[in-house]
Amino acid sequence: MQKYIYLDNNSTTAVRHEVWETMSPYFQEYYGNPASLQHALGRQAAAALLQARTDIAAVLHCQKQEIFFNSGATESINTVLKGVFQRYALKGKHIIVSTTEHKAVLNCCEELQKLGAEISYLPVDEQGAISLSLLAATIRKDTILVCLMAANNETGALHPIQEIAALCQAKDCLYFCDATQYIGKLPLFLEHIPIDILCLSAHKFHGPKGVGILYIRRKSKPIQVHPLLHGGGQELNFRGGTQNLPLIVGMAKALTLAAEEGYNSTYIRELRDYFEQEICARIPASHIISQDVPRLPNTSMLVVEHLLATEIMSQLPHIALAAGSACSSASRAPSHVLLAQGMTIEKAKASLRVSFSMLNTADEVATLLALLPNVVERLRAQSPIWQLVQAGIIR
Ligand code: PLP
Repeated sequence: MQKYIYLDNNSTTAVRHEVWETMSPYFQEYYGNPASLQHALGRQAAAALLQARTDIAAVLHCQKQEIFFNSGATESINTVLKGVFQRYALKGKHIIVSTTEHKAVLNCCEELQKLGAEISYLPVDEQGAISLSLLAATIRKDTILVCLMAANNETGALHPIQEIAALCQAKDCLYFCDATQYIGKLPLFLEHIPIDILCLSAHKFHGPKGVGILYIRRKSKPIQVHPLLHGGGQELNFRGGTQNLPLIVGMAKALTLAAEEGYNSTYIRELRDYFEQEICARIPASHIISQDVPRLPNTSMLVVEHLLATEIMSQLPHIALAAGSACSSASRAPSHVLLAQGMTIEKAKASLRVSFSMLNTADEVATLLALLPNVVERLRAQSPIWQLVQAGIIR
């Protein structure tokens, strides 16, 4: 039987063995509710919750009181955009996002527009980079939030978060950073970057699904975010609902391990760079998107011109890849990120994302390198469009 090769790690990752070992006793042995302080099991749960908060704060270099547990980035994004909009109504209704944000951000903004929000969409260039001077010019007196991701989930392109944070600080405007793809892949020290609000999801770095954190910086003038979920007073009254302790413990373990191992970023980058160098040499008319800007070390967005990425993937059923954003792969629409970077619909549909993790091996890369060029050659041989390209009739 052919071994299954998983190269869709920006979509989600496997829970690491050590993470599972750490979290599994919290389902059946240590199942107390952290709010039940009247008995030993509850107190034990509260202590585990505090430890997880402390461990995560240590990795992110922030205070544990700045961390709020929830179900992940989508919840955080909804909480922040809707909660800031509600609380800062007196200051204004203007929010700035980039055109390449995750759909959770863009769809949330669409909802807020119906409630009167004014959204400015910052354009990106063909590499996925924003212009800082345009951002500076777009921030107004009534701008209540700048929402710009740390790393793009499709191309891996990084935004200059240090500069964005400094600019927002200088202009007295809140900066919310969606760091869902960044955390767990590269280090980020919140004590050195004045990001006001940040979110992440554990399943992007070998933790469990359905859990994440929202970080809100403690400031002398406190940041106001109206809660999305009202409940029993958990998370300092900010996020109601019993904390999902097994998942939270697993998330803390996954993040701690990743940080201790230097995010394995050198190993992952070497796999990715070798793949890119070889694949572009072996497949004519192929190239990598956002290669000229700082990128995540694990992400390759490969364009195989004149073919559909979905067609290629159907020929490689034992290899998990992604056509455009895996988060929105239910839709057949071409990636909004690639279109925002100025690509044609045809090229966007020819884009195949390969995203690596520390669990991938050089053998797996070698298998992909052996199979992918053959699949492309076979499909192109059957393609009338490719014949026209070869004949120089179209480009
Ligand atoms: N933001 C980014 C950049 C993402 O890549 C994702 C998921 O892929 C999300 C937000 C949403 O994360 P989740 O589905 O864990 O809520």
